[in-house]
Amino acid sequence: MPVIAAVIVLSALAASARWAWWRPARPGLKVLCYHKIGTPPPGSKLKDLWVSPEKFRAQVKYLLDNGYRTLLFSELKKAYDSGAKLPEKSVLITFDDGYENNYTHAWPILKELGAKGNIFVVYGTIGKANLWHNPASEPWVNMATLPQLREMQESGVMEYGSHTMSHPHLASLKPGDAAWEMAESKRQLEAAFGREMCAFAYPYGDGAYVPAVREKALEAGYTFDFSFLQGKTPWPWDRKAGPIDRLFIRGGDNNWDLALHLTRGASRL
Ligand SMILES: [Zn+2]
Repeated sequence: MPVIAAVIVLSALAASARWAWWRPARPGLKVLCYHKIGTPPPGSKLKDLWVSPEKFRAQVKYLLDNGYRTLLFSELKKAYDSGAKLPEKSVLITFDDGYENNYTHAWPILKELGAKGNIFVVYGTIGKANLWHNPASEPWVNMATLPQLREMQESGVMEYGSHTMSHPHLASLKPGDAAWEMAESKRQLEAAFGREMCAFAYPYGDGAYVPAVREKALEAGYTFDFSFLQGKTPWPWDRKAGPIDRLFIRGGDNNWDLALHLTRGASRL
């Protein structure tokens, strides 16, 4: 009997370390952060950045089945500009970098289920590969082409924000170069897509909490800047207080993790 009790206690402790169900629920803006949708290439050391199409579909379905409404950046901007409250069950699905697998795997699922997504595009690698990345940890991956991105925008299912020109560590650049990465990518993306780019995400989250870098992001004219820090940011958003944090969905996450991200702001320690 004591053995069984010990097993139960140990299992409960293990589950508490793996899942943050014991955290209090907290309000705030829910912004899911994805990267690649698909199967990681053999030997990849970055499997956490890949979510399988099956899991992605199940997650989007979970959102819709549970009454969540998926927002586009332009809808968030409308709410921000008018000071409107957002329904508690609002969520943004975001993808970083602009991979071709967002076009081949994520977009068809969003379209089919009736959900919306947003991609932070690295302007300089459109139609190329993720050239900023060291291929030692994973071979280069194709980025979406301009026609693919335009097709997704035309469908009304995807909108874009900027993720710089070349995906640098902004805080390590000279201030002028960091400012150029943020301002020039906004200009180029707006010219390419004929829409305002109101949202920006810091590559690697680098610089999001460095005042000198963040100041340049806001000066470039973005309404929203998104970090890579785990969490939910209070809404209405105090723009001066800091960037908007996100909920990083890992490849191994299941729908229980997703539920904890949405309610607790994190699924694990
Ligand atoms: Zn990135």
